[in-house]
Amino acid sequence: MIREVVIIGSGPAGYTAALYSSRAQLDPLVFAGSLSGGQLMLTTDVENYPGFPEGVMGPDLMEYFRKQAERFGAEIVFEDVVEVDFSSQPYRVKSTSQEVEAKTVIISTGASAKLLGLEAESRLMGHGVSTCATCDGFFFRGQEIAIVGGGDSAMEEAIFLTRFADKVTVIHRRDTLRASKIMQQKAFDNPKIEFMWDSAITEVLEKDDKVSGVEVENLKSNEKSTLELTGLFVAIGHIPNTHLFEGKLDLHENGYIKTHDAVKTSVEGIFACGDVQDFTYRQAITAAGSGCMAAMDAERWLETQHS
Ligand code: NAP
Repeated sequence: MIREVVIIGSGPAGYTAALYSSRAQLDPLVFAGSLSGGQLMLTTDVENYPGFPEGVMGPDLMEYFRKQAERFGAEIVFEDVVEVDFSSQPYRVKSTSQEVEAKTVIISTGASAKLLGLEAESRLMGHGVSTCATCDGFFFRGQEIAIVGGGDSAMEEAIFLTRFADKVTVIHRRDTLRASKIMQQKAFDNPKIEFMWDSAITEVLEKDDKVSGVEVENLKSNEKSTLELTGLFVAIGHIPNTHLFEGKLDLHENGYIKTHDAVKTSVEGIFACGDVQDFTYRQAITAAGSGCMAAMDAERWLETQHS
């Protein structure tokens, strides 16, 4: 059996693509991955997803996405895709237990925020540690927080976080920033932002299962100090989940999938949506919107093949 649509990935983009393509009666098969749900599974309260005036927990939101897609017949398997072949029609997608043929493939494998790799960092994700200032800044009103990183994201997020926090300390491993000059200047001019140069976070401290501070090592003097705070934002870059597609689709230099006309990739009938092709907005709502576009474009493309 050749599938009309196979979807790889199960964040907001993938499940929205599944919802739209199942309602278009294309019987999509979704490879949700062994760790399904995407980055929202790592968050607690989500207050900026429209339609939830009281907010919603990230994992609950992803369960609603999945159930809604399943209600219209999307078939979801919790397996990782290990190989794809887009060299000729039908395309082939191989998972850990099966190989399927598909006329169209929608890729929504997302991106992963890079982490420092400290044990408490992952455990306290959503309990004081965050990788998304837009999502979580609001929870830190009147508090003292830190952000780690020296790039444009770190500066942009530090500036954004000063809307809520009383003080934002930027902890950076060197004594110069990677961020563009204009972003640097904006951060330097902001009276709520302080910088800790040449510094690495060696431990995330906790009290009552919440972040209470960080241990910081000065990389020049090797001196350690403790900074008390309630929030740590990690902004040291993202890694797109595109290793499967290297050499098979055109990718940007930074590894994200190149798209044109919104969600079309370099291969006809292969679409990409959500964070795997978006390094600008990176929001659940924008990912969901692009998932909808990918499903509609896949449907249109299939129609052109049948006529
Ligand atoms: P980035 O430019 O790669 O910067 C990552 C920062 O994190 C660097 O300062 C790096 O330090 C630091 N870092 C990396 N790994 C680390 C580790 N293990 N421990 C401690 N620090 C670590 O990433 P980004 O800021 O997310 O930006 C990605 C791209 O998007 C860039 O091209 C950026 O210009 C663009 N962007 C643009 C805007 C804007 O124009 N408004 C906003 C956001 C992002 P080093 O500097 O020492 O390497």
